[in-house]
Amino acid sequence: MKAVTVIPGIPESLRLRDVPKPSPGNGQVLLRPIRVGVCGTDKEIIEGRYGKAPEGSQYLILGHEAVAEVAELGDGVDNVGVGDVVVPTVRRPLNCDLPVDFCPVGHYLEHGIWGLHGHAAEYSVTDAKYLVRVPKEITDIAVLTEPLSVVEKGIDMAMRIGQARFEWKPKTALILGAGPVGLLATMVLRLMGLNTVTTATRPPDSLKARLVKELGGTYIDSVAEQISGEFDVVIEATGSPQVINEGLKHVAPNGVYVLLGVYPSGGSLGNLGELMTSVVLNNKVIVGSVNAGIKHFEMALEHLRRAKDEFNNWPAKLITKRANLSNYQEAYTWTHDDIKTVLEIIQS
Ligand code: BGC
Repeated sequence: MKAVTVIPGIPESLRLRDVPKPSPGNGQVLLRPIRVGVCGTDKEIIEGRYGKAPEGSQYLILGHEAVAEVAELGDGVDNVGVGDVVVPTVRRPLNCDLPVDFCPVGHYLEHGIWGLHGHAAEYSVTDAKYLVRVPKEITDIAVLTEPLSVVEKGIDMAMRIGQARFEWKPKTALILGAGPVGLLATMVLRLMGLNTVTTATRPPDSLKARLVKELGGTYIDSVAEQISGEFDVVIEATGSPQVINEGLKHVAPNGVYVLLGVYPSGGSLGNLGELMTSVVLNNKVIVGSVNAGIKHFEMALEHLRRAKDEFNNWPAKLITKRANLSNYQEAYTWTHDDIKTVLEIIQS
């Protein structure tokens, strides 16, 4: 079968290879991926800066944002059936009894990223208990479930931590960044009824700005305009250390700051003492999140369904580029204005 592969640690090693078709073991299923999404983590892996091949394999099959059809059941599988459309979660535990998305670094593997093959292939294999069934009416946008699950977990943690203290009712949110994560965060917070401000470096007539406005959110072009005011929830979704600083200044008393980026090393917090004193005196919370489990995948599917209905098919507009296995390199070439790129594996 055909698979999109890299040799982790080696830049420019992206190749379409003919590899053996896998077969499902006990408790596993054989998947027939329909499409996979491409994200910044894939970019890091392709550039040789991240990623690990499975034990005994020289290459890693990419693809951790997937929607797939169940093709075959291994022994003992009864939670899904052949033909079901599913989304697989990314992480599997390694000597860790916690919910897998809370396992510390070194105690998990990740499909398509770290030690397990991904789904950018004609077939893939994973554990059945980590699959979530997709309602038929959202099969076309379910490829957004994985990035959205990370957002769901971040917002869910903000709500739970906020409400663990008193009856905290956030009304306003600031979202830094309008990539897929920032836009999906805007979508969820608007569905929850918060007033949102989303800021990015694109002009007000850009697609990203228009998408924010279609949700009823406010867009600020951060090149031309300053952010003003304080917000109950602040979401950092740019992955830039400088922006962390900016976001922290806008967290309201009792507010929660959610960091959803994976940041390059370096950077510094200007006026750390003043910023942290404001955190202390105003009971602010800073929380990080990068990976999610079944519960947040389910929340993501429900929000995709609602957003499709309530915001005029909005999630589909995030998919701005499509490629397939015959021009797969296109999917792994980044251009400035793409939002979400998708590799179509089954041609419809
Ligand atoms: C994925 C997460 C994963 C993280 C780090 C992200 O792109 O969405 O599931 O944990 O990369 O490997």
